[in-house]
Amino acid sequence: MAIFSASPRVWRRTMPDHQLAETFQATAKAKGLSPIILHALYLANLASPDRRIRQRSIHAMVSELEFAALLGIRWVVLHPGSHGGKGEAAGVSQCARSLEEVLRRTAKLPVGIALETTAGAGGFIGARLEHLRDIIDSCRLRDRLSICVDTCHIFVAGYDIRTAEAWENTAQLIDKVTGLSSLTVLHLNDSKADLGSHVDRHTHIGEGRIGLEGFKAIINDPRLHAVPMILETPKSDDGSMDKTNLERLRSLVYRDRPPRS
Ligand SMILES: [Zn+2]
Repeated sequence: MAIFSASPRVWRRTMPDHQLAETFQATAKAKGLSPIILHALYLANLASPDRRIRQRSIHAMVSELEFAALLGIRWVVLHPGSHGGKGEAAGVSQCARSLEEVLRRTAKLPVGIALETTAGAGGFIGARLEHLRDIIDSCRLRDRLSICVDTCHIFVAGYDIRTAEAWENTAQLIDKVTGLSSLTVLHLNDSKADLGSHVDRHTHIGEGRIGLEGFKAIINDPRLHAVPMILETPKSDDGSMDKTNLERLRSLVYRDRPPRS
């Protein structure tokens, strides 16, 4: 399961009190909800050339990690941010410096940050796996950094995942660049937009340009069996599409293997 600590479109975070945090953890345990991932606020931009935005983002990310720690959450997913016109290399190094500060200020917390792949529009870094690798490599506290692959984002960023063969090529590329072992979360979304279009429009599983064959390859990949997979598909008013998307994914699981939980 993935949660936000508050609306992802506002800066303010309110810490849960002790009792709420305890109830959350006890309920998650009783319901078998594990792991739980926190998605950081969308406003955070650790790569920004604007010092004030960066400082505000660092402060907000420290709060996100503290929030996660209170709820027993191990990973916070973060979009690495936009370079604001300064170029990808500048954005990558700015993001790494900001992350270092977030990690240093939360040094005692057992919480890490998973950098999410992006569609790569509007100066956003993270559309190339090399961006994420370079950010991680230039942080001294890199043992608390990992990556989150979003199927829609990597697809529109130019990584083909439509067939078993295409997924295998992309998986090998991920392994070569960042290491598949650094992949701690997957976001499973089909894409309304085409391969390499850099347009980020999530759609229901099997109804977009990726299609069921690609998801079948991903969901049955034994290298990913310990990696949590989160749906970020559009919501219907009655919430029924979440169930439909989940059923579609489950129907793709090879029958000679135990189903994923
Ligand atoms: Zn995502």
